[in-house]
Amino acid sequence: MRLARKLRLPQPFDVHALCARVAADRGRPITLIPLPMASLGPCGLWLAGDREDVVCYEQHTSALHQEHIILHELGHILHGHEGSETMSALFPDLSGETVRTMLARQHETFGERAEREAEDFAFAVLARASRAQGLRGSLEG
Ligand SMILES: [Zn+2]
Repeated sequence: MRLARKLRLPQPFDVHALCARVAADRGRPITLIPLPMASLGPCGLWLAGDREDVVCYEQHTSALHQEHIILHELGHILHGHEGSETMSALFPDLSGETVRTMLARQHETFGERAEREAEDFAFAVLARASRAQGLRGSLEG
């Protein structure tokens, strides 16, 4: 929760802009890739490379859901959760070079505590974002 409170949120809130800001702070690019994830099981996946993080998220869902998925993955990244290594073959669109150096961080390998942390992070950021949005709305209105 502290992590979510410390983040400087973009105004107006935009999850892509937030990821760009976090990436700049950490000195590690975060690439967001929309994919049809349904066949893979989870709605989102974090691939940790040597020099960058890649977040894949379900492309066939609402913008709000995508925002939540990306924030959940960002929660895993910022908490430094360790998952297990798997299946680069599922990502034929990424170059072989990229995939070889990446670990797929899968939710079932994180454990319950990490899942709760990532989920709490996503909700805390969204709550802050909507409060800020609401405040601006009431100032303007
Ligand atoms: Zn997760």
